Amino acid sequence: MTLNETPPGAPDHAPVRRSFLQRWWFDVVLWKRILLALVLGAVVGLALGEAAASLKWLGDLFIRLIRMVVVPLVFLSITSGMAAMGDPRRLGSIGGKVLGFYFATTLIAVILGLVLGHLFQPGVGVDFTGVEARPVGEAPSVSEQLLGIVPLNPVEALANGDILAVIFFAILLGAAILAVGEKAEPVKKVFDGGVEMILFITRVVMEVAPFGVFALVAWVMGTQGFAVFTHVFLLALALVVGCVLQVLLVHGGLLRLVARLPVLPFFRDISDAILVAFSTSSSAATLPVAMRVAEKNLGVSHTVASTALPIGTTISMDGTALYIGLLTMFTVQAFGVELTPVQFLIAGLTITLVAIGTAPVPSASLFMLSAVLGSVGLSAEQTALVVGFVLPFDRLLDMTRTVANSTSDLAVAVTVAKMENELDEEAYRAKPVE
Ligand code: ASP
Repeated sequence: MTLNETPPGAPDHAPVRRSFLQRWWFDVVLWKRILLALVLGAVVGLALGEAAASLKWLGDLFIRLIRMVVVPLVFLSITSGMAAMGDPRRLGSIGGKVLGFYFATTLIAVILGLVLGHLFQPGVGVDFTGVEARPVGEAPSVSEQLLGIVPLNPVEALANGDILAVIFFAILLGAAILAVGEKAEPVKKVFDGGVEMILFITRVVMEVAPFGVFALVAWVMGTQGFAVFTHVFLLALALVVGCVLQVLLVHGGLLRLVARLPVLPFFRDISDAILVAFSTSSSAATLPVAMRVAEKNLGVSHTVASTALPIGTTISMDGTALYIGLLTMFTVQAFGVELTPVQFLIAGLTITLVAIGTAPVPSASLFMLSAVLGSVGLSAEQTALVVGFVLPFDRLLDMTRTVANSTSDLAVAVTVAKMENELDEEAYRAKPVE
């Protein structure tokens, strides 16, 4: 029974009594509650200053709760989504489009990052005196990452939360269910039921979101406040402008021009996911919410949502790609290095690959920077200085780019669903019910 339904046995005409709490809390749609928490968190954080750090545990608790569902959700939903395709060849058609769009939007983000870095000149005149260098170690090589997709032991991959390896095994399992047919039917039912259960848990966990978001935003504002704007102002400004352009023009454009759908329902329906991405800075933590809004609000079929979104979370990071592009420009400007056109090309390609390999967790992109800067001849010491300079102010920047990471996954999922006749357009246009 939902909170607004008439209790069983009550006469039809009896007015439904709802408690004060129900009216003032549960009857308000979730995104409004989260938004209110975000604003209150910012105010309380600014008022408390450093003392706001004592609230962080509540935010961490929320992130743990939501990350708890990520691995089982990816495993169960990809397997059941594959099994629901009915024909393994559809994987090729859906998968090809999904990967193509992910790659294209990432490439645009990289170019946008480099161009905005050139226009805003965020690194000119930066002074590194007093900055503590933060060595970041070598990023894993592309061949290592590719080999790692095949798990030596699927159970180990699940236990370690190695998402790409889990995706690989789940695709095989789903294809096997299709190939075996009737005998595998009971297994298919277990996976289908499992997905529903995990999405139910996600919904329950999301009731904690307003409290978690309040605590996370209070902590960020209290401990970092507007320092980001005074210390790395141009970098922050360029990132915000870039992410807004990427989300509105590229993701909105994809929906409008390729999927031929109105854009407003998209942004209205995904507000829960946007707010969670912003406050947690983790697209992995946002995945369960993204899957829920895709299926329940946007009308994307289970088959497309369950394949496109987990893959997108892991490999498609537009905000991150844009940010690494900006940081590359920041670094060459700070050290007065001139890049040749060929070096720009190399940097652009390396950033695209690095963005694909970045883990969907807070501040992950900073630690991938060495691969990009190394490819254009900057030293490990120079990278360490840049990371040491930016890291203390990274959280607000991370919150911004994670939003663009998540909207790209959702826009691509809707577009591919539309192209594959897997979108319930009526549900897409309708206001979400919860
Ligand atoms: N925090 C980002 C994400 O989870 C990754 C990054 O750019 O650091 O999507």
